[in-house]
Amino acid sequence: MLEANIFKDQAVLISGGTSGINLGIAKVLSGLGANVSVFGRDPDKAARAAQEIKAETGGEALGLSADVRVYDAVADVVEATTTRLGPLNIVIAGAAGNFPAPAIDINAKGFKTVVDIDLMGTYNVFWSAFQKRAEAASFIAITAPQAVNPTPFQAHVCAAKAGINMLVKCLAMEWGPAGTRVNAISPGPIAGTEGMARLAPTREAEMRVTASNPLRRMGSPEEIGQMAAFLSSPAASYVNGCIVNVDGGTELGDASHDALVSWRSPS
Ligand code: NAP
Repeated sequence: MLEANIFKDQAVLISGGTSGINLGIAKVLSGLGANVSVFGRDPDKAARAAQEIKAETGGEALGLSADVRVYDAVADVVEATTTRLGPLNIVIAGAAGNFPAPAIDINAKGFKTVVDIDLMGTYNVFWSAFQKRAEAASFIAITAPQAVNPTPFQAHVCAAKAGINMLVKCLAMEWGPAGTRVNAISPGPIAGTEGMARLAPTREAEMRVTASNPLRRMGSPEEIGQMAAFLSSPAASYVNGCIVNVDGGTELGDASHDALVSWRSPS
């Protein structure tokens, strides 16, 4: 466990921090003393998220709105955040879009939408935040197992998230000398999120996901928040350019009872 108030007076910006995993990250960092600014497209949802953070942690929280695909809108959010909270110590690029579909049915517009939100959005947030960073800053992208596991019905997400992983590594090389560490977290299936509702929409599908995970459960937004806190803390001061899995072992492959038995049984 990290020391209480370890991030006292630090400024945090989180794209997509108005729900799900990214809101969980915001709450963990706020609970550790940070002043957080969360944003998504919907201003009401952002205001509600900021209220929820304040109510839970008693910390300072701003709820702003911008579409990560629009660079100038993101730059305005960065400006508004630094005016209120000061230079950015921690930046989380977590906004994403997803709609499962066979590759043949994802037309150019749909493919571009996901790449624009996930990959271009991460670039827009990181690039504009870099201009307003604190002397030592922690930048974290939220990627996914699809970045390295080719996944049916996820061609757009796989391509976009793979791009994010490479962007993180390139920026880690170029921005390290400026004192900015750039890493990514790859969450596994996280319970109660919009992402899981789309990928495992039925109870049966949820049970399949749980059964195939080595830990036999989904993760929680708080568990992703704990990794973001670790990566942004002095304990991770030499961690740069890493894609960190927080997935219970999802990326290792199917660990379901049936899969394990089939490996052991002669066919
Ligand atoms: P979620 O609750 O749907 O959160 C998505 C966030 O992004 C919301 O705040 C949404 O707010 C914002 N957003 C979407 N499009 C945007 C845009 N164009 N501009 C600005 N903000 C935008 O999602 P989640 O399931 O928790 O996933 C969060 C992150 O974790 C994503 O990067 C996802 O790929 C990754 N991930 C999730 C899982 C999982 O199990 N859920 C697993 C692996 C990786 P608005 O709608 O108001 O814009």
